[in-house]
Amino acid sequence: MSHFAAATRALVKKLGTQVVLTSPEKLHEAGFDSSKILFHPSALVHPRHNEDIGALLSLANKHKVPVTVRGSGTTLTGAAAPLLGGWVLQLKGWDKIRIDAEIGMAHVGTGALVADIQAAAEAQGWFYPPDPSSKAYCTIGGNIACNAGGMHGGKYGVTRDYVLALEGFLPTGEFVRWGTATKKFSAGFNLRDLWIGSEGMLGVITGATLRLIPKPAERYTFLAAFKDECAAFAAARDLFSQRIQPAICEFLDRFSVHCAESATGRAVFAGQSGRPVLLLELAGSASELRDQKKQLIAWAKRLAVAHRAARTREEAEELWAVRRKCSGAMFELGDSKLNEDIVIPARNYEKFARFLDTLRKKSGLSIPTFGHLGDGNLHVNIMYRKADPAQCHAAEEAVQALMEKVVSLDGAISGEHGIGLAKTPFLSLQHSPAQIGAMKAVKAALDPNGILNPGKMFERFEVWKHPRLAVKLPWDHK
Ligand SMILES: Cc1cc2nc3c(=O)[nH]c(=O)nc-3n(C[C@H](O)[C@H](O)[C@H](O)COP(=O)(O)OP(=O)(O)OC[C@H]3O[C@@H](n4cnc5c(N)ncnc54)[C@H](O)[C@@H]3O)c2cc1C
Repeated sequence: MSHFAAATRALVKKLGTQVVLTSPEKLHEAGFDSSKILFHPSALVHPRHNEDIGALLSLANKHKVPVTVRGSGTTLTGAAAPLLGGWVLQLKGWDKIRIDAEIGMAHVGTGALVADIQAAAEAQGWFYPPDPSSKAYCTIGGNIACNAGGMHGGKYGVTRDYVLALEGFLPTGEFVRWGTATKKFSAGFNLRDLWIGSEGMLGVITGATLRLIPKPAERYTFLAAFKDECAAFAAARDLFSQRIQPAICEFLDRFSVHCAESATGRAVFAGQSGRPVLLLELAGSASELRDQKKQLIAWAKRLAVAHRAARTREEAEELWAVRRKCSGAMFELGDSKLNEDIVIPARNYEKFARFLDTLRKKSGLSIPTFGHLGDGNLHVNIMYRKADPAQCHAAEEAVQALMEKVVSLDGAISGEHGIGLAKTPFLSLQHSPAQIGAMKAVKAALDPNGILNPGKMFERFEVWKHPRLAVKLPWDHK
């Protein structure tokens, strides 16, 4: 920490102690994210206005101090943790939300919570579809920086598909705007899209203009159980081939269903305990849904071993409980979890299911898997006991084997969480040296002093070898 002390004193002199916080409690708070690995920043900075950010970045460049931008710290990858110390910049209070109800746009500050943006849009008959499970806590700035997804991805796409314009700061401290509040923009290089998914390494986002779509009038929730995982995958493809695009198509394998059943104390379908399920939600106008409902029921009769639809809001909540309960209940299988958000192309689902069965046998670990089948973004949860070195080693080997398999099946090592620290050992599986070289060249061009979120993405960091903090975060029950 000490070699940043003089620079931090200069920052305090410039911005004041109300903006630059250095108490041990504040530094601890800013020292980790949901990966729970602790690092030690020299200051947590809450800027009041653009001038504060410009001044901070210019001092950071002058003194070569790392700057880690922080939203709410819900990232699971270590992306928001200040690996090399320095200053954590958190745009607390930058949370204005203004809905343009005439044309369907939202103008938002980077610190606005995603659930608040959705609620504000829906209050005016509009809909902002990207819906990470963490939406009640995470910021739109964090979602843009990670290109966050969620359950709606298959039908509606991810954060990238809704960002019309961005404003913020280059790492070197100049204020910039990428795009305007128009639905089309083709003037010059598209650096807006370069910022989306850049994980706080290419710029500081201060605000965004988002595209909204009309709020679907009706929803229809449906749960179907299948003989085995391969039958569930084939059934999902069958449904999509009928040109039915559910707003949500969540898959839970038999191990995830087992976790949900043991948490609720009852079978999801009587007599069909532990069968994999698809949780589906159709969304649209009443007339759109009328035909689709009929098609869905005929589909389930043909391919599922059991199915039921929700007739009321309460019944829909009951079906949703299966999905909501499974993630937390997994901790009965191990006190630690490596949650890998990989993507598999639909044509390779069955190959992947067979691979997971082999991986379970070989590693001796429980690996419940669930996720978003609409876009192939599955969450593979490798469960292990932290105090057991053999299990830790098996988990480490299982992640390596998983990532190699995902890439060999033409998939992606991350669909929504990003690279951060957690996926750095696998970036070179996904990208060739030329591709990584191009990314590094962009980083060097925009951030010549390497001050924004250094040590992430390109440097190898083995997350599982680092002790985790035993803290409970507000979103840990999810
Ligand atoms: C319980 C739980 C469920 C989750 N479910 C999902 C899910 O369904 N889908 C999904 O995609 N993710 C999910 N996540 C991961 C996480 O919530 C997302 O990655 C989210 O986008 C992070 O937002 P945040 O505000 O917490 O950002 P942080 O965690 O604070 O930061 C994340 C990254 O964004 C950068 N960043 C943040 N703000 C800015 C800014 N203003 N300018 C530039 N860079 C910035 C940071 O430097 C960091 O690299 C989940 C996490 C938890 C804990």
